[in-house]
Amino acid sequence: MLQLFMPLGFLGFVYREIKSSLANIERLFALLDRQPKVSDKSDARDLEVNTSTLSFNAVGFSYDDSRPILRDVSFSIMGGEKVAVVGASGAGKSTLVKLLFRFYDPESGSVTIDGQDLRDLSQRSVRRQIAIVPQDCVLFNDTLRENIRYGNPEADDDELLKAIATAHLEDFVARLPKGLDTVVGERGLKLSGGERQRVGIARAAIKDAPILVFDEATSSLDSRSEQAVLDAFSSMAQQHTTLVIAHRLSTVIDADRIVVLHSGKVVEQGKHHDLLLENGYYSQLWQAQQRRSEQD
Ligand code: ATP
Repeated sequence: MLQLFMPLGFLGFVYREIKSSLANIERLFALLDRQPKVSDKSDARDLEVNTSTLSFNAVGFSYDDSRPILRDVSFSIMGGEKVAVVGASGAGKSTLVKLLFRFYDPESGSVTIDGQDLRDLSQRSVRRQIAIVPQDCVLFNDTLRENIRYGNPEADDDELLKAIATAHLEDFVARLPKGLDTVVGERGLKLSGGERQRVGIARAAIKDAPILVFDEATSSLDSRSEQAVLDAFSSMAQQHTTLVIAHRLSTVIDADRIVVLHSGKVVEQGKHHDLLLENGYYSQLWQAQQRRSEQD
């Protein structure tokens, strides 16, 4: 979703918007998506978080009436669990995240957090409880410190350092001559894909929200950077209700559950080994990816 090509003028607008309103990463996400807004009900309540259990209940959705995108999708992520959604390109994985952020409402069924239907809640209160690590973390021409603080502009230095530790960025920061005051982004220091994604993890960590969404990068990082990202992410995921949108099955074999989407329908769900034993669609996807990585 964040990989859209955007004219620089629009990025400038986004940057100013964020600076001026001290908005967080979800606001950026919403701006980039530029979809018609779903508005709050006049009597919308604030989300009351308990165990942070997230559920998609028989969700049906289409962007336009002509083509169903999600069909009868049901799965839950209990508080503290890590669930991965996998499936071919176009299966509907990112659409699930858009519904979770309430850029759209389902046509049928519901999305709930701790039993509360998102349609009855204020969007602000829902988005406050969800942190996202996007596929490609957009860096602004500003210091590394400020780039991380976009996740929570009110965070103090202790929270900042904690987020840097969670994202395993300490050694990286220590190697920079100006440390956290180093300017990054287009006109500053260029970061590698893995470093950018770890800045995304630090942004999410500093937000300190109970629900975490990790949109895995499609383009592969070299294996050392990928391991660094995965290590940072798993230390964070342990304390969260986590939804991973996965492109490489090898990165989610430790998930509590894997939900397999095919043309907008959940065709299988379970643990990696059980799904392999079923010898169904997941097993086909797994074998195809194994063959591809052997060829590389
Ligand atoms: P990928 O792995 O390539 O990111 P995905 O599984 O995340 O794919 P989605 O991005 O959820 O798939 O898209 C599901 C389907 O919905 C695709 O056919 C896509 O073309 C369509 N789609 C996505 N966004 C929109 C939109 N804003 N308007 C119309 N159709 C859309």
